[in-house]
Amino acid sequence: MTDVTATATDRAHRAAKRYVYAFGGGRAEGDASMRDTLGGKGAGLAEMTNASLPVPPGFTITTEACNDYFAAGERLPDGLWEDVLEAIGHVEQQTGKGFGDASSPLLVSVRSGAKFSMPGMMDTVLNLGLNEETLNGLVALTGNERFGWDAYRRFIQMFGRIVMGVSGEKFDEALDHVKEQRGAKQDTDLDAAALRQVVEAFLEIVRSEAGRDFPSDPREQLDLAIKAVFASWFGKRAHDYREYNKIAHDLGTAVNVVTMVFGNMGDDSGTGVAFTRDPNTGEKVLYGEYLTNAQGEDVVAGIRTPLHIRDMLERMPDIYNQFVEIAGRLERHYRDMQDLEFTIERGRLYMLQTRSGKRTAAAAVRIAADMVDEGIITEREALARIEPAHVDQLLRDQFDPASRVQAQKITAGLNASPGAAVGKAVFNADRAFEMAQQGEKVILVRIETSPDDFHGMAAAQGVLTARGGATSHAAVVARQIGKPCVAGCASLVIDYGTRSARVNGLGFSEGEWISLDGTTGEVFVGALPTTQARFEDQAELQKLLEWADRARRLQVWTNADKPEEAAMARRYGAQGIGLCRTEHMFREGERLDIVRDAILVAFQATRAKERREAGDSLSAEDEAAVGRFDEALAKLEKLQEGDFYGIFEAMDGLPVVVRLIDPPLHEFLPNHAEVLVEVTRMEATGVAADDPHYVEQREVLRAVEALREQNPMLGLRGIRLGLMIPDLIKMQTRAILNAAIARRRDGGDPHAEIMIPLVGHVNELSRTREILEAEARQVQDAAGMEVDYKFGTMIEVPRGALTADAIAEHAEFFSFGTNDLTQMAFGYSRDDAEGGFLLTYVERGILPENPFQSLDVEGVGQLVRMAVEKGRAARPGIEIGVCGEHGGDPASIAFFNEVGLDYVSCSPFRVPVARLAAAQAALQGAAERDK
Ligand code: PEP
Ligand code: MG
Repeated sequence: MTDVTATATDRAHRAAKRYVYAFGGGRAEGDASMRDTLGGKGAGLAEMTNASLPVPPGFTITTEACNDYFAAGERLPDGLWEDVLEAIGHVEQQTGKGFGDASSPLLVSVRSGAKFSMPGMMDTVLNLGLNEETLNGLVALTGNERFGWDAYRRFIQMFGRIVMGVSGEKFDEALDHVKEQRGAKQDTDLDAAALRQVVEAFLEIVRSEAGRDFPSDPREQLDLAIKAVFASWFGKRAHDYREYNKIAHDLGTAVNVVTMVFGNMGDDSGTGVAFTRDPNTGEKVLYGEYLTNAQGEDVVAGIRTPLHIRDMLERMPDIYNQFVEIAGRLERHYRDMQDLEFTIERGRLYMLQTRSGKRTAAAAVRIAADMVDEGIITEREALARIEPAHVDQLLRDQFDPASRVQAQKITAGLNASPGAAVGKAVFNADRAFEMAQQGEKVILVRIETSPDDFHGMAAAQGVLTARGGATSHAAVVARQIGKPCVAGCASLVIDYGTRSARVNGLGFSEGEWISLDGTTGEVFVGALPTTQARFEDQAELQKLLEWADRARRLQVWTNADKPEEAAMARRYGAQGIGLCRTEHMFREGERLDIVRDAILVAFQATRAKERREAGDSLSAEDEAAVGRFDEALAKLEKLQEGDFYGIFEAMDGLPVVVRLIDPPLHEFLPNHAEVLVEVTRMEATGVAADDPHYVEQREVLRAVEALREQNPMLGLRGIRLGLMIPDLIKMQTRAILNAAIARRRDGGDPHAEIMIPLVGHVNELSRTREILEAEARQVQDAAGMEVDYKFGTMIEVPRGALTADAIAEHAEFFSFGTNDLTQMAFGYSRDDAEGGFLLTYVERGILPENPFQSLDVEGVGQLVRMAVEKGRAARPGIEIGVCGEHGGDPASIAFFNEVGLDYVSCSPFRVPVARLAAAQAALQGAAERDK
């Protein structure tokens, strides 16, 4: 055995950069810390080698070599090829075999391996080094002619497709043709002679499709394969995957060249994949599958249905026990659940890969909690390991148990990725993607999926396949992106031609609704109703969130408009209501009519009241308008008081921020075009002038026209509305305070905070405050009881942020309305941009992210930061939170933590997510300060 480090010195002389790292024989040049350079797989192979685990010798070409390859115009950088040849020499010495040596051929695999695992997204070539001569050597060495020819045909097929760009279907057709001729059902039914015939057909296909002979020189094969693996970094599916997972495009892939070991050398050989814990549930059991007499791609592609890993105990007990021991060691070493690939060649176990295993949300939470209990990781590490998206998934819908009993179940498969999915069946990934873009819910149904289907899987609600096991492509990818998946539904006959699927006479066609239960593996026709996942039943999640509560500084409040929502948010851990949008209550049932009634006469009545106060007497018509307005407001006041009572009750003891009316009034009236058409239609059909419906519609039309604005979002809304129609402020103030008084009388502990929206100038706020405080005084005097309430404002107009010091003089609290602040800082209409150009902007990279989803820290963030500083300078200790959509977005939460907000407020479902994100932000912030 040569010393691997000795060769490194030679290399260092040759090129300034180190492109190749060897491993084998218990020593490796790299280690686990070198993921950036060696990729995940390369770092894992090096680390396993160093740990004296049985790893076939090989070497890793760095990610930097990949980047330099592209930088040099797709040319291998200087010195790389020499390093590769030297490393091959090293492998030859380790194995005692020769690359291209007919008597003892060394065959290698050439595999991609990026820093972040991208399962199946890039290319791999196996059995490289074979040609007519080395094939003879392989046959002679193994004494197995069939095995040799099978290895050769697989190599030509893979290399032809991946490296030479020959369509995979051509090879499939030729293989099927020979199978048909020979009456063979499966590939394994073909004998050596038949496989030789397949090889000849394949070589001919390559000649005609690629316009050249299949390369027989192993060195040329290696050169081309390395370049093809580099190229696969920029392949479409890898690109799409990185886009979806927000992985940088400039990382590059490493290339691992590893001695081939064969799992298909007979019944004492095999290959498999296993997780050290169940990746669905997180349970501490070895979970995986294997196939005897098979090569790796047979397991992953789901071509043969594999056996459970437990079966190995009976069939190969020694190997099984060795594997269990290695699995345990690797898990303890990496302090995380591992995903392992192994091959058994004639009774000898080889480890081919170890990496942190992908897992479902439920498994992530359970594994993190269990590993803390087992003393493997700390609470803080557990918190860092859970992704906020995991928490989100755990609160996802399930099928309603009652309706599932009656539902038409047509089949069941493997429960590959949990959760309930409902959508229209679609049999093609492109189509699934297109339909989803148009807002349809779809389920992607495939015989099996391949990496080319990724975009369709990501766009679908769930995935259903007829073939493949728990580690098939469909299962692995679906779990990772959090989509429910039922795999390996063997009874399902899928016909791409007719776009339909059948089981025993039942079935469905494209466009028909189906429902999948990825937790049980069941498939139903029709759209089943779903119910929410029960947070209360998730003990591990609760435990983790309690740790999060101890670690975080930010409070988490919620945006809720109804008592039920408030109660749910409280169960999820909300510490207050940060935004109760009172106008949401205006739209329910009979209320809309009352609200409309008030709006129709609001301006007339308000002006009339002003004149009356100035000493004028009113016309009968004005008197009537005032009466109608007051009556409508009185009804609304009663209804609102009841609502607020319910919310204070649900949030007893906690702060409740109630925002006064915000939207432009036309939102409560019918659409202008509709009323105009109705009035015109009636007039055209000769309606009587005093027809009551006509009179009413005319009045509505007049009001709609009077309220029409070119830019309603920048028009009469928010505080402006309150100042124009002060009775709205007064009515809402009375409703809020009377509800608080009633709660106090009933023994409750209400904490009202009254919030004014859309303030841009301090005078707007000071005037509103006068009106509101006078009314509040009256309410308290009338009740003979003082109620504590806070008066504050939203900061959501850029001018409000810029003058936050002046505004703070009149506000006991600020709440950032980052939806409007984003709209006005960018000058994007939030109603239009998201459905329009904004998506294109993000797709083309003009904007890194949709700023309505994740706060634009660079721009809008400056306004937030400035307003916090100015507000705190003018009023030390002022309470500051955020209630825009960004309050539930983990990246934005990190920023809010950093600028020192007191709380974030988000929708009830996001509360647990925000609890975790706030803890992660605090821990991250502390780690950075400690640096
Ligand atoms: C905001 O603007 O961020 C906000 C919370 O208010 P709304 O979305 O109701 O305008
Ligand atoms: Mg707003």
